[in-house]
Amino acid sequence: MNNRVFNTLQSVFGFSSFKKNQEAIVSSILDGRDVFAAMPTGGGKSLCYQLPSILLPGITVVVSPLIALMKDQVDSAVQIGISAAYINSSLDKDKTIQIYRDLQKNKIKLLYISPERFALTTFIQTLSQLNISLFAIDEAHCLSDWGHDFRPDYLSLTNIRKFFPNTVIAAFTATATKQVQSDIIYKLDLIRPFITRASFDRPELSYRVVRKSKTKDQLLKLTKDRVGKAGIIYRTSRNDVEKTAAFLVANGIKALPYHAGLEERVRTGNQEKFNCDETDVIVATIAFGMGIDKSNIKYVIHGDLPKNIEGYYQETGRAGRDGSDSECILLFSRGDSVKINYFINKIEDIHEQEKSRHNLNKILRYASRNVCRRKQLLSYFEEEHPGNCNNCDVCNNENELIDITVDSQMILSA
Ligand code: ADP
Ligand code: MG
Repeated sequence: MNNRVFNTLQSVFGFSSFKKNQEAIVSSILDGRDVFAAMPTGGGKSLCYQLPSILLPGITVVVSPLIALMKDQVDSAVQIGISAAYINSSLDKDKTIQIYRDLQKNKIKLLYISPERFALTTFIQTLSQLNISLFAIDEAHCLSDWGHDFRPDYLSLTNIRKFFPNTVIAAFTATATKQVQSDIIYKLDLIRPFITRASFDRPELSYRVVRKSKTKDQLLKLTKDRVGKAGIIYRTSRNDVEKTAAFLVANGIKALPYHAGLEERVRTGNQEKFNCDETDVIVATIAFGMGIDKSNIKYVIHGDLPKNIEGYYQETGRAGRDGSDSECILLFSRGDSVKINYFINKIEDIHEQEKSRHNLNKILRYASRNVCRRKQLLSYFEEEHPGNCNNCDVCNNENELIDITVDSQMILSA
């Protein structure tokens, strides 16, 4: 192993060894080779670009969609002695100018930037005056409209290669099917990239599908049985988020709502309370999540059928980040699939409609087939699992078979 790399791992980050795939990724980057890395949440992606940022001669630019998290990331990088900064819409003009000056003087090694900046040619031109050694694209699945979290802002990242034909680009994501992977590689124009896909298996997570009947009562029972443990309940609509949270609170559960319709102050306040264990449960739409870094979440319950497996996997992945046994429970009723299908039929773009229907069929199969849930989830990411995981309702013979033949026929033929 390269001594310089290992010394940095120990002396700067305080880690005695690499996590899986980190070393290969870091080596590729330092060798000047593009990278595509799919690693599960908690896999340690940040280190894969932070460590090279110290050793590379020029600046490492990190593109991240999460403005709210940038400050934290920069603060923690600074804390371990990396000269880091960020540029996003939250900065005032003076501060931004100051950062550009520092960049020109090579005073900043690690720079976080939000994706929409890249839509401005003037911005890229400014960047091209600097000595940039690496572009790290975090949450790279946002580039692909095959993924569950496409962000149009990310499309301007296709400009990077045009302006920086010789700079290393490394793409990172926690969720990527092969389709999303090819799309990312194509859009960023990665050149013979080193591709690595960590196993997506999370053995500490148990999966269960429960027949949904009286949702609120079921959710109350589930949370009551888990009082004092941190959990997320996902609901599809904002209205259901509010109602569920209120119902739980009225029944003595410490719960708070989270959705994009809440006032910013309330929303971040609730997230904060959840983070520091002031509330047990957060009831949320899928607006809650990407980038949350709470390690002791013991369960994630979906009160409604998610739209696709990729999103479901990502949302459940927020449980058990400390490696302890945690639960993923999906409440499933035939009615949910009918509802989703109703909205799919209203999508005008035929291509989009087909994709959504394909995704719905996959999650319907997941919820209704008598096949090891883990095997099914992993096969979605084209990873073979032998089944018999002994940590899902099917393997433990606890599953209730839910007949969806009628719905799926309807959906398939629609
Ligand atoms: P990701 O972005 O892939 O979800 P992070 O970069 O946030 O993951 O890292 C997850 C956690 O793993 C962090 O707490 C980080 O400090 C820790 N970590 C990263 N690399 C190592 C390592 N080599 N040894 C021990 N812990 C590590
Ligand atoms: Mg990350």
